[in-house]
Amino acid sequence: MIGLISATAAGAAARDRLAAAWPDRTRVYDGPVGDAVRRAFAECEQLVCFLATGAVVRLVAPLLSDKTSDPGVVCVDEAGRFAVPVVGGHAGGANELALAVGELLGAQPVVTTATDAVGIPGLDTLGLPVEGDVAGVTRALLDGEPVALAAEVAWPLPPVPFAERGSYTVRLTDRAVAPASGEVLLRPPSLVVGVGASRGAPVDEVLDLVEGVLREAGLSVRSLAELATVDAKADEPGIVEAARRLGVPVVTYSAEELAGVEVPNPSDAPLAAVGTPSVAEAAALIGGGELLVPKRKSERADGRPAMATCAVVRRPARGRLAVVGLGPGARDLLTPRAKAELRRASVLVGLDQYVDQIRDLLRPGTRILESGLGAEEERARTAVEEARRGQSVALIGSGDAGVYAMASPALAEASDDIDVVGVPGVTAALAAGAILGAPLGHDHVSISLSDLHTPWEVIERRVRAAAEADIVVTFYNPRSRGRDWQLPKALSILAEHREPTTPVGVVRNASRPDGTARLTTLTELDPAWVDMMTVVTVGNTATRNIAGRMVTPRGYRWQENSPESSREGSQEGAL
Ligand code: SAH
Repeated sequence: MIGLISATAAGAAARDRLAAAWPDRTRVYDGPVGDAVRRAFAECEQLVCFLATGAVVRLVAPLLSDKTSDPGVVCVDEAGRFAVPVVGGHAGGANELALAVGELLGAQPVVTTATDAVGIPGLDTLGLPVEGDVAGVTRALLDGEPVALAAEVAWPLPPVPFAERGSYTVRLTDRAVAPASGEVLLRPPSLVVGVGASRGAPVDEVLDLVEGVLREAGLSVRSLAELATVDAKADEPGIVEAARRLGVPVVTYSAEELAGVEVPNPSDAPLAAVGTPSVAEAAALIGGGELLVPKRKSERADGRPAMATCAVVRRPARGRLAVVGLGPGARDLLTPRAKAELRRASVLVGLDQYVDQIRDLLRPGTRILESGLGAEEERARTAVEEARRGQSVALIGSGDAGVYAMASPALAEASDDIDVVGVPGVTAALAAGAILGAPLGHDHVSISLSDLHTPWEVIERRVRAAAEADIVVTFYNPRSRGRDWQLPKALSILAEHREPTTPVGVVRNASRPDGTARLTTLTELDPAWVDMMTVVTVGNTATRNIAGRMVTPRGYRWQENSPESSREGSQEGAL
């Protein structure tokens, strides 16, 4: 029995939700809180207290005797945001109870018993159909007991701290097997069934064929990803309805595309009807993979000609490469999406200093491949290789990973057999801009002054173009020990078109603990202030220093009261 104790109206409301959901397992203890906790502690195997953790600790402390016999106690705060196992995490089942309570109330379970118990994804939250002993294997993972992964199919799973061997197993399989005891089956969407059908083919004929073929081949229908066919059959009711009942989409290809796929069993009938010698096999095989069941025809009880064909392919695993910008440094400038991607990746690739920046966020079981400065191409190649092996990979970069960073070398390596997800980050120019004021209020460019990979002539041509076009410029990689003349040269080019008093912002280590910012002018800037941790933003001819802030007006006519400017203004303001 689970004893429920609350002190306030908000607590009582959450308590009642729990009591309503688990009527046979819970008992509400009313009356003064201290008494209620004592009675529940004596009578129940578990307690959920809708009270502050401190209060519960004080009430429960004198009652504790032995962790094998004490009840498990979970605390839920009044706002229902957290479910905290306070005592009896393992033996008392409080960890598991906190997960269940958390799920029911939408509260975050705060499990603190073992480091390897923190942040393990629920097996039923991996986005794959799951069967078997989910509760037992989850508890084993939470308790730090060895759980082995048996992957028959490569699939980009999030990190789970799997052991080499264990009495518990997570089996990643598309085969129609039943889970053994202590085993969880995860069903990757690895099967594609190609379907051909004559006009008017009955849905039952299509469905019986697909299900029957999977069954005979020993494959699980829960791993079915899609039905694939030719464009001309996109609206064929028997196929559409079969897919609906199977809970998968219908994916179609043109006859031309299908005709280009090499298949074992081409025939003349579909060639005449829809213009390709194969529909079922070609549509199943078009994304590559292994043909598990060649073309099969439906069987009709009435002996009339078959109206449907199908073929089954196990498609190659599609790995996932997330290219994640970490922002300029401060933790609260790391986006929630970036954080989620870091926790989703089972392989993390990055520069060692950036890995250090986010190491605490990674889940147990994450494989970290870090390398030093200069190994960009190797990092890019490693990340792509891991993704092609079917892993879930995060490739990290500071600021935005697409700005003078890892995204382009990685995507230059990547073929279309992996999924790529980009997560934008706050790039240095924006982080610095926010510190300086509003320097980027009108057209602006970023220019890297590093002539390591770009000839200086090209850089100079771009600086000159920005100078002539009166565009605000942010210089990245402005100056290093071995590269000191480029910044003065670039500033002198801008000075040919801008006043000596043009505001210039120099921001070093934006958003980091030792960050500094100066607002100076084109002629007063001392290059000694500038290093590789710095960006330099040069205003345009309208940029002003207003009350110590760098402000670039949004346009010369912005303040004018012409109908055009006010119309434009209101539209843009709405953005
Ligand atoms: N991808 C990064 C830029 C990498 S290039 C981004 O989007 O920000 C490296 C250059 O970025 C550095 O030489 C420096 O000019 C600039 N930079 C990166 N982080 C910075 C920070 N926190 N403060 C100031 N400049 C920074």
